[in-house]
Amino acid sequence: MTTSHVIELKSLSKTFGNVKAVSDISLDVADGSFTSFIGPSGSGKSTLLSMIAGFDQPTSGTIRLHGKDVSKLPSSERNIGMVFQNYALFPHLSVFENVAFPLRVRNMDARTLTSRVHEALESVGLKGFEARWPKQLSGGQQQRVALARAFVFGPEVLLMDEPLGALDKNLREHMQSEIKALQRRLAVSVIYVTHDQGEALAMSDNVVVMSDGRIQQVGAPAEVYRRPQSKFVAQFLGETNLLEYDLVSRGLSGPIGRLANGAAFVLPDNITDAASGTLSLRPEEIEFADPAESGCRHARIEETVFLGDCMRCRVDYQGLPLWVKLPATVMRSVPRVGQNVALHWNEASLVPLDD
Ligand code: ADP
Repeated sequence: MTTSHVIELKSLSKTFGNVKAVSDISLDVADGSFTSFIGPSGSGKSTLLSMIAGFDQPTSGTIRLHGKDVSKLPSSERNIGMVFQNYALFPHLSVFENVAFPLRVRNMDARTLTSRVHEALESVGLKGFEARWPKQLSGGQQQRVALARAFVFGPEVLLMDEPLGALDKNLREHMQSEIKALQRRLAVSVIYVTHDQGEALAMSDNVVVMSDGRIQQVGAPAEVYRRPQSKFVAQFLGETNLLEYDLVSRGLSGPIGRLANGAAFVLPDNITDAASGTLSLRPEEIEFADPAESGCRHARIEETVFLGDCMRCRVDYQGLPLWVKLPATVMRSVPRVGQNVALHWNEASLVPLDD
């Protein structure tokens, strides 16, 4: 049967004693896509991955791999590659033999095996490292060997659990682009687990945000970042200002809301009819404006934080604290703490949240 989904999860749950690690998850993962599961520690990401890999049995629900129900198959009978944070290389095997391992298990003939191993090592930039032992490699090189070992046998999907967690920031960013480039070149489906929101946004076609064993939101990185549906997603994926409002009226120019500081403003059209609600306003959506501009809002700078490529300012907007993030290009003209400023934001950048 042909299907455009590499993985289909249906009502998947996993309970350990009285802990519901994964609760009723249903999700289709497109073939050839890069999908990241992101959420705080304990949100069920590893348990979910472990069930897809076949290391943990679901308490209920099904897992399909290219349309075939693999829920009850042992891990060895699922054609899946895995990469973990701790590399898990065999210390007593050379780089060549580490990568050859999954092919030997599959009884591949020696000639094909040798050429496959060389090809895989070349793909991860480790040509010439065949005879080394894992302990003679840096962390980044070890992770490349683990990666080569995970895809050398042509798995239907690659599962990665915090694979870059042990690397320093620069190497991590470098490896992110390498993994992404490799995934595109091999056209392999990747399911990636991370708690690093920047990593998930940078690498993925789709981001699945989890908390308490449940999916909170699924979408393309820009969509979940710009259109978070809940307070949890808005706060977990980046920084935001949460604005609580009361609905005052539904005027001709759109619904009118009032903030806790008494300021009235036009609400987005798609808010519900509830008497009150919350909006998300990303700090980078707020600009400093000309005080003479009509409709701008007057505030006072309370705190500035220099971040290199940008500056974060906490302002007092008539009793309401707001964070504003300014790019380096406008930073030089930014007034100092205690000065009055005018703020401007686009109505379209106010995002109504469910809860
Ligand atoms: P994450 O990967 O998002 O950090 P996990 O999937 O590791 O989350 O854990 C989800 C929940 O399940 C946590 O509350 C964790 O303590 C619990 N859990 C995970 N594995 C086990 C286990 N083997 N036995 C008992 N509880 C577990």
